[in-house]
Amino acid sequence: MLLGSIEAGGTKFVCAVGNEDYRVIDSTKFPTTTPEETLQNCIDYFKQFKDLRAISIASFGPIEIRRNSPKYGYVTDTPKPGWSNTDFVGTIKKAFDLPIAWTTDVNGSAYGEYVLSTLFNQRLNSLVYFTIGTGVGAGAVVDGKFIGDLGHPEMGHIRVKRHPDDLNFKGICPFHGDCLEGLISGPTFEARTGKKGQDVPLEDPVWDIMAYYAAQAALDTTLMMRPNKIVFGGGVVSERFLKMIRTHFKKLLNDYVSVGNLDEYLVMPLAKDNGSATVGNFALALKALVE
Ligand code: ZN
Repeated sequence: MLLGSIEAGGTKFVCAVGNEDYRVIDSTKFPTTTPEETLQNCIDYFKQFKDLRAISIASFGPIEIRRNSPKYGYVTDTPKPGWSNTDFVGTIKKAFDLPIAWTTDVNGSAYGEYVLSTLFNQRLNSLVYFTIGTGVGAGAVVDGKFIGDLGHPEMGHIRVKRHPDDLNFKGICPFHGDCLEGLISGPTFEARTGKKGQDVPLEDPVWDIMAYYAAQAALDTTLMMRPNKIVFGGGVVSERFLKMIRTHFKKLLNDYVSVGNLDEYLVMPLAKDNGSATVGNFALALKALVE
């Protein structure tokens, strides 16, 4: 039997099929264009696989996740042009009479890392996954379940204390200006330095400023949730950047509580090549099938 994964990002979609061992058997990607065209591409892709038994969607948002809402399965008021009020799950459900799991992109990644941790024999009960890329977001898994009842968490938009050398930067979040996403998402490199992130050397002080903000997010997460570990993924994150985050985190936490070995607490994803959400989707599809 096969399980389907749709990782719906603001710039690209990744569709994959895999087995119960969460192994990718086939995958494809295409750019995110109009909802009609993009969702039709998903449907055309999965129609090739006769043995498909369930599909899981991990989507950019905001999305409606409350099962009792008439808008369950919709992408709601997104800044992504054309996508507001799109019936994502309904459109896929119309094409496939299968169980469909539905959550946020970051929850999908969090779940993938949660499942992989168990496979790697790390005994853990909870995990938070931050992505720092085009946007910033986080998903949280506690005891195999996602948190959030009125809606999904929006940890990418928390407030942080400003770095004294960064006070002239207004931030780029269209809603809040200098929230976490407004200060450390990928496009902030261009807003601050006029250069794309990949062209800003790691010695540039802007990295240390961003690490300071990311460390605050990890600190607040630690103090509010006390998870077993916090994973940082997304295009902006590297081992070296994570090292800077750990340094700031250690200073900010000031040994107030114990989080164990920092190198095992603030970590990069176990899944390579941003594959966390795909693994998470396979696991969530399997769960939807069993339930
Ligand atoms: Zn914001």
